Amino acid sequence: MQYRQVGNTGISVSVLGHGTMRYKSRENAAEMIAHGLRLGLTYFDIGSAYSFKAFDDNAETWVGEALRGVPRESVVLSAKAQPRHGETKLDRGLGIDTRDDMWRCIENSLKRVGVEYFDFYQFWDMSADDHFDAACVGDDSPLVAMREAKEQGLVRHLGFTSHAQADQIIRWLEAVPDFRFITVYYNFMDTAPEAAINFAYEHNIGVAIMGPLRGGLLVGESEVFAQALPEFAGLPVQEIALRFLLSTPAISTVLSGMNEIAHMDQNAAVASLENPMTPEQRQRFIEAFREFSKGEPLCTGCRYCAGVCPQGLPVAHMMPLYQLAEVFKVASANAHIKSMAGHQRLDPAKCVACGLCVDKCPQKLPIPERMQRLAELSAELQEAAVE
Ligand code: SF4
Ligand code: SF4
Repeated sequence: MQYRQVGNTGISVSVLGHGTMRYKSRENAAEMIAHGLRLGLTYFDIGSAYSFKAFDDNAETWVGEALRGVPRESVVLSAKAQPRHGETKLDRGLGIDTRDDMWRCIENSLKRVGVEYFDFYQFWDMSADDHFDAACVGDDSPLVAMREAKEQGLVRHLGFTSHAQADQIIRWLEAVPDFRFITVYYNFMDTAPEAAINFAYEHNIGVAIMGPLRGGLLVGESEVFAQALPEFAGLPVQEIALRFLLSTPAISTVLSGMNEIAHMDQNAAVASLENPMTPEQRQRFIEAFREFSKGEPLCTGCRYCAGVCPQGLPVAHMMPLYQLAEVFKVASANAHIKSMAGHQRLDPAKCVACGLCVDKCPQKLPIPERMQRLAELSAELQEAAVE
């Protein structure tokens, strides 16, 4: 296992981080954590709402039980609570917008995991300006409690997880210099947060990555990657995707929500490589994307088009699927595309080519044309299934 420093916090973490959101059960959590420790994993991303059944029966308590007896300083624990105005669910750490509620979240998490401090405490899914306001603005904000907890040694560093635009993330990092760690959604297809990741790197702020395999879509085989990197021919897409992330110096750790031993073994083998992708190979990989797309721009997952379609089409969800199938030739997208034709919400044939999404898209993607191609692909796949 390789290890990296988290910005200038002085904390070192395994480059493969253990996401704890997908455990199948308490027993599965215990098995995965024990195996992860044997493989050298040290970073655990925990959350009070994960697998929540009751105050003392959820992923936080499972992690705490599995780590009993493990020297505290040998693991790095990052907990979180979600800042929102509106309904508060304290036990799950959701809807938190006051100092007192934040204190309760921190105390609850410490109690459930059974530790005296967290290495990181993050605002969870701070992805819009009103989330930032709920978290950080005012004398009674959750940020006040976070800072107090830090002063008391209960939390070593503050951070946030986010799906926001890169410019928002940068603005928040500038506004609150206490944030020393961010967790963002990034992979070789979803490149929109790159500016924020680079900003963090330049300012010695640690970066964890979520969504390294785009929710399980970046898997299987693709002949186009072998064209770009012949030396990696035969490697599955998931390994190339991980190598790409691990070769990014700004990234401290890549989170994977592992609940299968074999899956963890595969990820750990890649995370143990000293040189998963050279800078030259990484550059060749990025440049090859342009060839794959025949010079057409690619969707970066920025979500600027979210909610604009008068036909209700989730463009930011559909364009990456087009891209996976047509540009990267990754078959995992086909099952999703096949179900689109005739689908109430996702039918690309509903596109009326109004161009509203294109107006919002910084890449000016030919979205109506791609919707048409998706409709054709979906019909072809459905026909092939009948034959
Ligand atoms: S061009 Fe098509 S996908 Fe884009 S907003 Fe208009 S109807 Fe929706
Ligand atoms: S289609 Fe354009 S606006 Fe929408 S997510 Fe992709 S790049 Fe961003």
